[in-house]
Parts: sequence; structure tokens; C-alpha cells
Amino acid sequence: MMKDCLFCKIAKGDIPANIIHEDEQIVVFDDINPQAQHHKIIIPRKHISTLNDLHEEDKLLAGHMMLTASQLAKKLGIAEEGYRLVVNCNAGAGQTVFHIHFHLLGGRHFSWPPG
Ligand code: AMP
Ligand code: ZN
Repeated sequence: MMKDCLFCKIAKGDIPANIIHEDEQIVVFDDINPQAQHHKIIIPRKHISTLNDLHEEDKLLAGHMMLTASQLAKKLGIAEEGYRLVVNCNAGAGQTVFHIHFHLLGGRHFSWPPG
């Protein structure tokens, strides 16, 4: 738990969010400013600032986050049509909340290359 971290506070329940899934290791909630019909944020309860700060000891956690994204996509009904799983690392890539997270986006067409 990092003081003054928005996503640590959401994980702890100190700030409200529409939580759609949680377990001992991770929490998933609706993005407050959705960029697609489905836009979920997947976070670990453990505070990790960016993808650059992911270590060997976080291997299982990172895998669990990705597998949960895959399972949720199926549950949301977007698995077949396609969806996008995004991690923005640091300001140059658009990261604004410095607690590592996956964006699970679906329900529309996504172009490539991304902006
Ligand atoms: P990023 O720009 O990759 O760091 O993504 C941060 C995401 O968190 C953005 O898509 C924001 O809309 C979202 N966000 C910020 N504050 C909240 C909040 N209180 N509840 C839910 N999502 C949030
Ligand atoms: Zn945090």
C-alpha cells in the first residue's frame, strides 16, 4: 500500500470504483473515462509503479493478470470479435496513474498502429 496512490486506495476500498472482479491478488474495475464500450482496469493489490518495476518475483502475478483478462474478455462476450489489452509504461506512452495496470478494451474496432 502506497500512501497517495489512487489505485492502492481503490484496491483497499478507500476510494469507490465499480469493481467487477477481485481476488487475493488483483482487482478489476470500470475505467472512469471509458475509451470503448467495455473498458476495464486490471490492477495488482501490490503496488508496482510501472512495467519497468516488474521483477522476477512478480512473474506469477503478471501471468494471473493476463489470464484474468482473457477470462473476462470471454465473460464480457468480446473474445471472438476481438479486444485490446494495453499497458502504458511511463509518461511517453501516456501513463497517468503510476500503479501498474492493464486496460482491457472491447466493443468497437481498434486501429493499428495505435496513436
Ligand atoms: P493510464 O493513462 O494508462 O495511466 O491509465 C489510467 C486510467 O485510469 C485512465 O484510463 C483513467 O480514465 C483511469 N482512472 C483514473 N482515475 C480513475 C478512477 N478513480 N476510477 C477508475 N478509473 C480511473
Ligand atoms: Zn499503488
